[in-house]
Amino acid sequence: MNRLVVMKFGGTSVEDAPAILRTAQIVAGRVAKGLRPVVVVSAMAKVTDLLISAAATAARGDRASALAITERLRIRHKDTATQIAAKTSGEDQPSPKDAQLLATHGWMEAEFDGLDEILRGLAAVGELTPRISDMVVSYGERVSSRMIAEAFARTGLNAVHVNARQCIVTDAQHGKAIPQDALIEQRLKEHVAPHLADGRVPVMGGFIGSTEQGVTTTLGRGGSDFTAALVGGGIDAGAIEIWTDVNGIMTADPRMCPDALRVRIISFEEAAELAYFGAKVLHPATILPAVRKNIPVFVLNSKNAENEGTRITALAPHCRSPFKSIAVKKRLTIMDVVASRMLMSHGYLRSIFEVFDRHKCPVDMVSTSEVSVSLSLDSNEKLPAIAADLSKLADVKYEGRKALVCMVGENIRGQNGIAARVFQAIRHVNLRMISQGASEINMSFMIEEDDAEEAVRSLHREFFSDPDPEIFDVEAARAARA
Ligand code: ASP
Ligand code: MG
Repeated sequence: MNRLVVMKFGGTSVEDAPAILRTAQIVAGRVAKGLRPVVVVSAMAKVTDLLISAAATAARGDRASALAITERLRIRHKDTATQIAAKTSGEDQPSPKDAQLLATHGWMEAEFDGLDEILRGLAAVGELTPRISDMVVSYGERVSSRMIAEAFARTGLNAVHVNARQCIVTDAQHGKAIPQDALIEQRLKEHVAPHLADGRVPVMGGFIGSTEQGVTTTLGRGGSDFTAALVGGGIDAGAIEIWTDVNGIMTADPRMCPDALRVRIISFEEAAELAYFGAKVLHPATILPAVRKNIPVFVLNSKNAENEGTRITALAPHCRSPFKSIAVKKRLTIMDVVASRMLMSHGYLRSIFEVFDRHKCPVDMVSTSEVSVSLSLDSNEKLPAIAADLSKLADVKYEGRKALVCMVGENIRGQNGIAARVFQAIRHVNLRMISQGASEINMSFMIEEDDAEEAVRSLHREFFSDPDPEIFDVEAARAARA
């Protein structure tokens, strides 16, 4: 049996000292079971956002405000290390002679001094290049991973810090660098495999990498999941665990629908559809390297570690119900573009989409008729300008406070009568747009935001009243009712 497991912990799983110690326990639990983990961690919660704003603030020339942000980050990391030292030594306060803690504070000071140096330069030059931006934001994971490796060691784990920038080799597209799989595999053999062979737990930062020349890069926001998949693929892990703060993927948002069930197993394609439509658990494109190698990926809850989470697999298992989950995206706007002048002329759609392209405004859903196009968009401040541009081509109306409901399941392929059941269940709701994607595994429609909750509950009642126990966690629901 392949005992290698990549365990990735997101920002909320390492947000403070108690969270980090809980994470250490989860890892120790895996070690006790005979598994051999490699741990990938994000920056502490909110740190990446703060670093981005520090960089922007410095580039605007406001040096003092930028340095005030990093000063708070410096204090937060040092305090976290202090609390971990206290808790692991069983005291309220760590001993002032705690040599390990002094060493930790020492390297943290040096790291944050280095960061401040960059910000001062940035304030002087006044230009933020993608390359400098990557340098600045990389500090979140650089510091968190080293601190967490040391925290793990203090709890008795045989943990060792590995510099992710030595392993995750990328091209030079800063901000969204492309990983170089063959080189990564080779680097993992050099920097990670020997530790595993000696029974140590390597701990590395997600999200960050470097070019072959050693220039720091990042994989894009949320990139730690991507790192986990790259490491898992590179070392041929038996499983990848994405630890977050929810019990995996649910049949609906439990805040909207109290009857929501945990989905025990879902296909990669289904999970991808859900993510594109706003289910925030993870972005499946990032786990593609693992799925391609057929490595199972689990989404687990670090605040409820006993829960078995959701397993994402390459192929969907057979399921009695047509749908796996209902996702809802709120705060959308519908824009209706009615062609009075350019009726049926070719190039019409292109000229419309050029406007959205120019304003860098993504479009979620499109439905067209001979004379009109309706589009759904995230509500944003660019809409009046977009509408003004479009009105040179056609008549434009737009209306906010809409919600997109997206129902996903591989079993709707080729099944008759599903749409009838969907629309019967929400017959009281005013439907604004309908679409079934080419993937044939989702059915989506736009409704008023105020109707979203009611619609989701009705749909859930229609499709999940008799859930398949192989696919959905019916036990938890039964226990909750009892
Ligand atoms: N810290 C990075 C971000 O916030 C990467 C991650 O958390 O996955 O985007
Ligand atoms: Mg994340």
